Amino acid sequence: MIVEDVKKICVIGAGNMGHQIAVCAALAGYQVNCTDISQDMLNKAEGFARTYLPQRVAKGKLTKDQADQAMANLRFTQNLEEAAGDADFIIEAAVEKIAIKRQLFTALDEIAPSHAVLATNSSYIVSSKIADVTKRPDKVCNMHFFNPALVMKLVEVVQGPHTSAETAQITMGLCKKMRKIGILIQKEIYGFVVNRILTAINREALFLTDIGVASPEEIDIAVTNALGHPLGPFRLMDLTGIDLAYYKAMERYQETRDPQDKPSPLVVEKFTKGEWGKKTKKGFYSYE
Ligand code: NAD
Repeated sequence: MIVEDVKKICVIGAGNMGHQIAVCAALAGYQVNCTDISQDMLNKAEGFARTYLPQRVAKGKLTKDQADQAMANLRFTQNLEEAAGDADFIIEAAVEKIAIKRQLFTALDEIAPSHAVLATNSSYIVSSKIADVTKRPDKVCNMHFFNPALVMKLVEVVQGPHTSAETAQITMGLCKKMRKIGILIQKEIYGFVVNRILTAINREALFLTDIGVASPEEIDIAVTNALGHPLGPFRLMDLTGIDLAYYKAMERYQETRDPQDKPSPLVVEKFTKGEWGKKTKKGFYSYE
């Protein structure tokens, strides 16, 4: 298969990432089936597309025809068989839990056509931790978008030892078709490139707050004004989800048993209170 053979894309998960990846793919001309176990999330994703696309027309960024075509390309369904049954390329953006991803890939391997590529948008988990549940490990890879997926240009494509050169090339080609900048990472490593750097920054920022050196607000002011980052680490965690920070740290800790990998006390506190950031209207900041 070559990237030009990809016509239908299935996006699994309509959360923070999935709903925007689906719109990106629809804007690039693909027929997109977006699926989620939650009908509420699918309704929100569809509502987002119905608002976002006309807004882009009003701003002169899209023609009405382009917006209408993108909307016509999108389908939202809870039914996994319906969503993935005729897909050429699948982007899994379900919750960051390895057991769920392994379950999903087992099901997808049964449902999706044998030529379909199965890519995971996981932030940290390399695809070799998932590919072994399928009979097509050569067609499994990481395709890691950044948040918000409609805005951020970079996509990390990780070619695991099981991933064929063809799959890596198709995935890199798809990045280009979706008007993204793909980088091909040819060696698997937990967290890939960007999130390893981000994790180091976040760990230090949380440590400084946990020991009372500076507040989240002060640290964000410092990082934006001295390092030139558009968002400080706490504002960014609010955007990406404190639940995600918690789950990813717990998953990592369960694997390594290294106390350094445990979620920081502040992340545990926010997670337990249900203050997960923008999605719950409260995190390190309030969004009411
Ligand atoms: P989210 O919690 O906002 O959305 C996840 C969605 O997956 C939810 O709507 C949930 O209902 C759905 N889901 C759970 N189990 C499912 C299943 N079995 N089948 C179908 N849908 C299911 O999470 P998110 O932030 O969008 O993250 C999704 C993935 O993208 C994760 O792997 C995460 O690591 C990765 N990611 C997240 C970010 C970010 O900034 N949030 C950035 C890049 C990558």
